[in-house]
Amino acid sequence: MKFMAGEFEVAVIGAGHAGIEAGLAAARLGCKTAVFTINMDAVGNCPCNPSIGGTAKGHLVREIDALGGEMGKAADECFLQMRMLNRGKGPAVHSLRAQIDRRAYSTRMKHTLELQKNLELHQAEITELERSEDENWLLTTRLEAQYKAKAVILATGTYLGGKIYVGDISYESGPDGMFPSKFLPDSLEKLGMSIRRFKTGTPARVLKSSINFEGLEEQCGDEPVIPFSYDTDTPTGNKVKCYVSWTNENTKQIILDNIHRSPMYSGKIEGIGPRYCPSIEDKIVRFSDKKRHQLFIEPCGIDTEEMYLQGMSSSLPEDVQIKFYHSIKGLENCVVMRPAYAIEYFCADPLQMKSTLEFADFSGLYGAGQFNGSSGYEEAAAQGLVAGVNAALKIQGKEPMILDRASSYIGTLIDDLVTKGCNDPYRMMTSRSEYRLILRQDNADTRLTPIGRSIGLIDDTRWNKFNQKQKLIQDELERIRKTVIAPSDNLNEILRNNNTSEVNTGIRLIDLLKRPELDYNKLSPIDTERPQLETNIFEQVEVEIKYEGYIKRQLAIVEQVRKLEKKLLPKNINYSTIDGLRLEAREKLNKIRPENIGQASRISGVSPADISVLIIYLASLKNKTEVIADDN
Ligand SMILES: Cc1cc2nc3c(=O)[nH]c(=O)nc-3n(C[C@H](O)[C@H](O)[C@H](O)COP(=O)(O)OP(=O)(O)OC[C@H]3O[C@@H](n4cnc5c(N)ncnc54)[C@H](O)[C@@H]3O)c2cc1C
Repeated sequence: MKFMAGEFEVAVIGAGHAGIEAGLAAARLGCKTAVFTINMDAVGNCPCNPSIGGTAKGHLVREIDALGGEMGKAADECFLQMRMLNRGKGPAVHSLRAQIDRRAYSTRMKHTLELQKNLELHQAEITELERSEDENWLLTTRLEAQYKAKAVILATGTYLGGKIYVGDISYESGPDGMFPSKFLPDSLEKLGMSIRRFKTGTPARVLKSSINFEGLEEQCGDEPVIPFSYDTDTPTGNKVKCYVSWTNENTKQIILDNIHRSPMYSGKIEGIGPRYCPSIEDKIVRFSDKKRHQLFIEPCGIDTEEMYLQGMSSSLPEDVQIKFYHSIKGLENCVVMRPAYAIEYFCADPLQMKSTLEFADFSGLYGAGQFNGSSGYEEAAAQGLVAGVNAALKIQGKEPMILDRASSYIGTLIDDLVTKGCNDPYRMMTSRSEYRLILRQDNADTRLTPIGRSIGLIDDTRWNKFNQKQKLIQDELERIRKTVIAPSDNLNEILRNNNTSEVNTGIRLIDLLKRPELDYNKLSPIDTERPQLETNIFEQVEVEIKYEGYIKRQLAIVEQVRKLEKKLLPKNINYSTIDGLRLEAREKLNKIRPENIGQASRISGVSPADISVLIIYLASLKNKTEVIADDN
């Protein structure tokens, strides 16, 4: 029999990476919050690689941290190996990546939720979601407990209608042998929500002692370790090594001989898979001229012998998997502890959502993470934070937090999802941002901590630390502007050795540092007054001055775009009635309902000519003194 079990302001369905940040943000902003999960031992579970960060994803983690989120801090506490990727490339794409201890991370996150004031963690499967008579939301669990909430955040990950595929065997399941969320999809469809099917996959986990590491390339972490979080003062050292191996012609042949047994190729799987994270069979078919593919052998934790085979996800039958894993150098005798599998699941079309991640047609209902069509822990956490913050701000009658594309990768991710939608699981990449030089991982705090502070997620200690760091950066910029280095043999020798022109008059330190051939390290013999500061401060100063011209140009574009984003489009426009708009534009605009001209301009199928029509239309509305919320 159904019974009323509790009332909350915010209810979060899911305690994965999205649900954790959503629940913590809402509770930290003072809302009475509940987080529901199918299995409390899998809070913050990593069903794929236990790794946080990586290219573009590392930026997201830094941004989550800069706004007051949890992921970066937990990764710093639970990492096994930390590396800054892409060091050989420009600073825009430097990205931190941590291999983490999967169990420790999950335990750390669960405990954080348990300790959080205003938050209750419940192991319960939500089977129904409906509007209550008083226009709140009513959630029903499998055990018929009912909860009322003013706002609900859907963060159901790959569990929603989850179905696992290994060869021709398939069964309903969540990841890692957990049961799926079987009943909620019907309830969401009954509400009128548009859901569709995506899929993803994971490689096998193999027994460490069965791997022959001899002759495999080793990958070590960076020393000293650079942490994700601006709160982490003294990260511990790296604890493990990772290894690199390669597939070969034999691996390829085994896979090609058995490709008809793949559920992907036999048409059993309908869900659309991640384009940028293909299975090994996909890679072999799509890149048929490639002789070999790289794989990384990475530990899953300190207290386990499970090793993850990055790059080798598959949905081929287990017997084929064993055969092709055994064809790889180092894995000839490996024991497959968990076979690879693909999982298909339901997710929402994010075009139904606003930039706050609230559904346009369902007031108080938000989506986050894999549920919104994205893939990846960091993408999920970023959306969870935004959904949690906005649910709380709405309940409190405050202005929403909308991060624009120029502010962050988080803003870019959400804008892409709600404006362009996604036809396959969306993954963050640096190439998705047009503002890469200003959206660096080193300056995430400068960009976002003031926003985190203004919404109430940054406490006084963190805020003071942030301001001190900003002052040190400004002081250092001032110092290098004012410091003039006299010409000397010593200086000219450095310049000569670095293939840059010598000087015969005094030169400002800033002008030396602007030269691409020079950096702080090379100039240290003549920069004798340099203060003792953290490395990241010097790095940030150096990037700001070396790329000053490009950064200024990007900032000028940002200003232009922001002007368009201030031209708000009234919610109730019927685009079909606007003369001059092309048919495709009318359809897309009616469907997506952009919030402003800037967002409208990014919708595929809306041309610059359509945007001109919209601007003229807005001006005509203004002349008729109809209500436009803001048109500065
Ligand atoms: C097999 C596999 C392979 C993957 N491969 C990759 C990859 O290669 N690269 C990559 O970036 N990402 C990959 N991922 C995706 C990654 O795991 C997710 O992107 C990430 O975990 C999403 O976080 P989330 O919070 O949205 O959902 P999840 O971490 O899946 O968490 C979902 C949460 O919702 C809860 N839940 C669901 N339904 C209900 C309900 N009805 N009631 C109560 N609780 C409910 C679950 O208990 C869980 O706590 C893979 C995932 C799987 C399963």
